[in-house]
Amino acid sequence: MWLREKMSRFPRGETAPEMAVRRALHRKGLRYRVHLPVPGIARRRIDIAFTRRKVAVFIDGCFWHSCPEHGRIPSRNGEWWRWKLSGNARRDRATTQHLEDLGWRVVRCWEHEQPADIVRRIQDALDAQPVRETPSHPEHGDA
Ligand SMILES: [Zn+2]
Repeated sequence: MWLREKMSRFPRGETAPEMAVRRALHRKGLRYRVHLPVPGIARRRIDIAFTRRKVAVFIDGCFWHSCPEHGRIPSRNGEWWRWKLSGNARRDRATTQHLEDLGWRVVRCWEHEQPADIVRRIQDALDAQPVRETPSHPEHGDA
């Protein structure tokens, strides 16, 4: 199945909107990890992750993640696509919930959004999320 092959060979995230957002964050002096594995869930990655503040950014493709403005079910193999795309949406919600349970703040964006708007939402999330010291720096911790 060509489309499925294509999807697995070009993992989510390497899109023009994501690259624009990453460049803008970098210009602001913000540092982040890209495509960080979601802790505790196999084969899922955070597009842009701020690990100290625990802010996870996903820039979801309009087709694969069924954006309300641009999402659609292809007419060919409609049932399969309905199953496939609703499964993606369910996984997205489960991933968000999982990260929030672990104390992350999750910012979900659509690839059609303006990069400047996405960057503003990310900055707001960073400002709202206190820095947590990690166990790898015990000199700052209580333990
Ligand atoms: Zn869209």
